[in-house]
Amino acid sequence: MRKNNSNNIQKKEKKDGFECLSCKKWVVFSPFMGTRHRNHCPYCLMTRHLDLEKSGDRKAKCKGEMKPIGLTFKKEGKDKYGKEREGELMIIHECLACNKISINRIAGDDDAEMILKLFDSSKKLSKEKIEELKREGVDIILDKKEEIKNQLFGKPQTP
Ligand SMILES: [Zn+2]
Ligand SMILES: [Zn+2]
Repeated sequence: MRKNNSNNIQKKEKKDGFECLSCKKWVVFSPFMGTRHRNHCPYCLMTRHLDLEKSGDRKAKCKGEMKPIGLTFKKEGKDKYGKEREGELMIIHECLACNKISINRIAGDDDAEMILKLFDSSKKLSKEKIEELKREGVDIILDKKEEIKNQLFGKPQTP
């Protein structure tokens, strides 16, 4: 006779997930997420200031809420023409408590519509904020919506 282990699964999910502080949805860690260090909520894209030096170190004392403020492309260096190569789409988060900026990978189960909404709202950022990001070495994407869509939804099929 097979044992019913649904209880175990529930327990495991409790251990392998977290409740989003912002939208209160339960976020389950799963191998389908495409990134090992799931650190933001796939529904509202909020995260917490937990990492100090690098992603996943969990050494920050701040623990503040971090709000997504825009998108950037991962820097992949320059191509042979000296043009900046554009890599993966990344989310820019800003800590509401200490203003730290961090760049995070988009996970496989992130809500693509939310990411597109984030892009639209990022156009309302002040010039000062955009300059501040630049000084931190972060080039926020303010145009190229097509490229963003391609990364989120896949390139449209051309016959
Ligand atoms: Zn959330
Ligand atoms: Zn902080």
